[in-house]
Amino acid sequence: MVCLRNENYRKRGGGGWLLMPQCSANRPNGERCRLPAKGQRGLCWAHSPENAERRRRTASRGGKAKTSKLYKTLHELLANLTQRVIDGELETSRGAVANQLISTRVRLLDHERKVKETEEFEQRITELEEAQARRGRASS
Ligand SMILES: [Zn+2]
Repeated sequence: MVCLRNENYRKRGGGGWLLMPQCSANRPNGERCRLPAKGQRGLCWAHSPENAERRRRTASRGGKAKTSKLYKTLHELLANLTQRVIDGELETSRGAVANQLISTRVRLLDHERKVKETEEFEQRITELEEAQARRGRASS
């Protein structure tokens, strides 16, 4: 029984997180947690014993403030470039390259946002599964 379960974890855990070690905790359904492990314990932020919920909120707030500042900077840069091209201060070729680089940066930001969103959904699903498992144990 134990061997079968371990085999299962290896198969499921293979392709998820290549750069960071995987969390060593198990989800209530028996699957290995797929979040990246942080720190010495080999556990993710959801499974680490410290107050995970509070840290999640703090991190999310910090991230949003940083992102909106970055968007403001990009807006200002675009407005500045646009005005200088219109006024003839900046060659159109330089303006075009600047625009391409800004577009690349926006795509990168969008990609980062999607990755972060996926991680947050994964985190929320883990929390829901754990809450459901606790309720199941309590009622049986
Ligand atoms: Zn975990």
